[in-house]
Amino acid sequence: MDSDGGSRKQRLIASGEGVSAIGRRCLQCHRAGAMPSHSVGLCEDCNAAIAKEVQGRVRGIQASLREVKAEASLRGKLRLWDLILAQAQTLLRFEERGILTTCPRPSVLLQELQAQRDALTRPR
Ligand SMILES: [Zn+2]
Repeated sequence: MDSDGGSRKQRLIASGEGVSAIGRRCLQCHRAGAMPSHSVGLCEDCNAAIAKEVQGRVRGIQASLREVKAEASLRGKLRLWDLILAQAQTLLRFEERGILTTCPRPSVLLQELQAQRDALTRPR
């Protein structure tokens, strides 16, 4: 009798090890398969690609926000805000598919950015 082998198997099942990836599909490419345990629902390829894209968008938004501060004309500011909001919209598409990107969430971020942009044209 190999009682030790039996208890090891039970421990594995109890911890969920080895079964967590079964039946899961990548939120981006919809491939089924093993995912790293820390994954938020993306396969490794998509996780890396999305992380890179999100990082680029966030940097773009931050750069445009700096430009807005330096921009003197209202017209110039509004043009930059359009750019900022368009970039934030691309992040929102990830959120709609349940993919985690920024904190606060893109939808919250977008609301805040939209409010800042609207404050420029609000009659005083
Ligand atoms: Zn994928």
